[in-house]
Amino acid sequence: MLPEPIISLTAALAKLPGVGPRSAERLALHLVQTEMPVVQYLAETILTARERIRFCEICGALTEKSPCATCTDSRRDAALVCVVERAVDILSIEKSGSYRGKFHVLGGKISPLDGVEPDELRIAELEKRLVTEPIREIIIALGTDVEGDATSHYLAKRLARAGLKISRIGFGLPAGSGLEFADELTLDRALEGRREMI
Ligand SMILES: [Zn+2]
Repeated sequence: MLPEPIISLTAALAKLPGVGPRSAERLALHLVQTEMPVVQYLAETILTARERIRFCEICGALTEKSPCATCTDSRRDAALVCVVERAVDILSIEKSGSYRGKFHVLGGKISPLDGVEPDELRIAELEKRLVTEPIREIIIALGTDVEGDATSHYLAKRLARAGLKISRIGFGLPAGSGLEFADELTLDRALEGRREMI
């Protein structure tokens, strides 16, 4: 039987994504035997990151300052907005190197099975941006799985309005997966070869 603090630490670590009960216990046992300054540094780094990072009030990206650097960068094409599922997907698109527009993070995909309804995504925020910003094209860059497809079509229908082009990347993306599995060249080509939805 392990001492209570180790059991509590294991339970806390097991709540992290991708950490099963076994790895949680291994991490906890490792941490309680690690030198104090190392553990202190880890704890402080976690706290600092959590305290300083927030969501950009416009695009939903992770940032220290809201609005974020991308939203306030006047060299970026304000007529172009790339819609992604999660904040980390912005990094994938940026790494492709060719995209110079703005971003919008949805915060998920529509998935009735997982109980994710359109209302829980940042779609109303995007509609607001269509009114306040000079957006002429929306590039939907969601994964190619079933939920990505459903969400893309829902968005195209809901956002349709005169003078707005809505396109979707897809060309060459691995079928049934998210952006994180595509390399830079593939993403670059997928952006280049985007197809108009409406
Ligand atoms: Zn932003």
